[in-house]
Amino acid sequence: MDCDRCSRPAVHYAAYSGSHLCEAHLCRSVEKRVRRRVRSDGLISPAASPDEPETWLIGLSGGKDSVALTQVLQETFAEDPRIRLVCLTIHEGIEGYRDASVDASVELADSLGLDHELLSYAEEFDLEMDDVAREDPEGMAPCAYCGVFRRNLLEAGARKYDADKLLTGHNLDDEAQTALMNLFGGDVRQVAKHFDASLGGFDERGDSEAFVPRAKPLRDVPEKEVALYAHLRDLPVHMAECPHASEAYRGEIKALLLGLEENHPGTRHSIMAGYEELAALAAREHRDDGSGGDGMGANGDGIDDGGVESTDSSDGDSGPALRECERCGAATTQDVCRKCQLVESVHTTD
Ligand code: SF4
Ligand SMILES: [Zn+2]
Ligand SMILES: [Zn+2]
Repeated sequence: MDCDRCSRPAVHYAAYSGSHLCEAHLCRSVEKRVRRRVRSDGLISPAASPDEPETWLIGLSGGKDSVALTQVLQETFAEDPRIRLVCLTIHEGIEGYRDASVDASVELADSLGLDHELLSYAEEFDLEMDDVAREDPEGMAPCAYCGVFRRNLLEAGARKYDADKLLTGHNLDDEAQTALMNLFGGDVRQVAKHFDASLGGFDERGDSEAFVPRAKPLRDVPEKEVALYAHLRDLPVHMAECPHASEAYRGEIKALLLGLEENHPGTRHSIMAGYEELAALAAREHRDDGSGGDGMGANGDGIDDGGVESTDSSDGDSGPALRECERCGAATTQDVCRKCQLVESVHTTD
């Protein structure tokens, strides 16, 4: 089969749009969707200028999604003096998994000439995820700890760089899964928080002083196309899956969605279109009653691309009355933030 837009052989068929695309046109189409999302989300602040550029921190895990996102953004903004791109990689301390993905991240950042910061659980919290998973002092899934620690380091990295925005590589599949999980969970406040934390356009979100605003410019592109893009462009990608991946429920939703998409192409897109509208309404409603918009949405905030770790909602940092953690100064609703509680709990069992 030939490409719909030229005579070269197609490398991809997208059932949801009925289009066959060759290598060059598939890549162009992925890039176009990212740029369109950057525009439609209003990612570039009107105040950004060559004299006062915005800093965007990209959560670069070394997986296909964040690698593809970094590549596209760098090619788009390399010559734009209004935007400064920097990358942050987080090392969780997972034997045989994170070392290789850190290498992939360093290789990409180097090849693109981007500033790159590496933060580790070992250095920041004096613990490693392998030990946390083994000792499990709170009787939780490993990802529940990891999500709290990661969010804390993402914020720390953003503060270190004085970043205006934090960008992660979540794709369409990740976001549609999160949307269904939030809807099936019946937690409308969570839907509202998702909108204000990372989903809504920048002119539609509630303000949050406490957290760096997030965005997911890759979220219109299906996972398969992101993988193909990374492969066709020969980007340095680390493919292995974390041995502690434990979000069984997300796995069920993923399987459900793949089946639906197969029989009803376009399902992921229509879920997201409807969900975004509902989330906007929910965010408005909860902001009005003073209970939403703290910017700490618990969904889709992981630095990893697979989204497997992104739904922990147990950090307890939700709600309007934010103050500083008395130990580390992070924004929290409690005296001691969830991260500090978990770190202490892990060290107590040492
Ligand atoms: S899957 Fe992700 S969140 Fe879960 S333990 Fe591994 S790195 Fe952490
Ligand atoms: Zn073509
Ligand atoms: Zn703290």
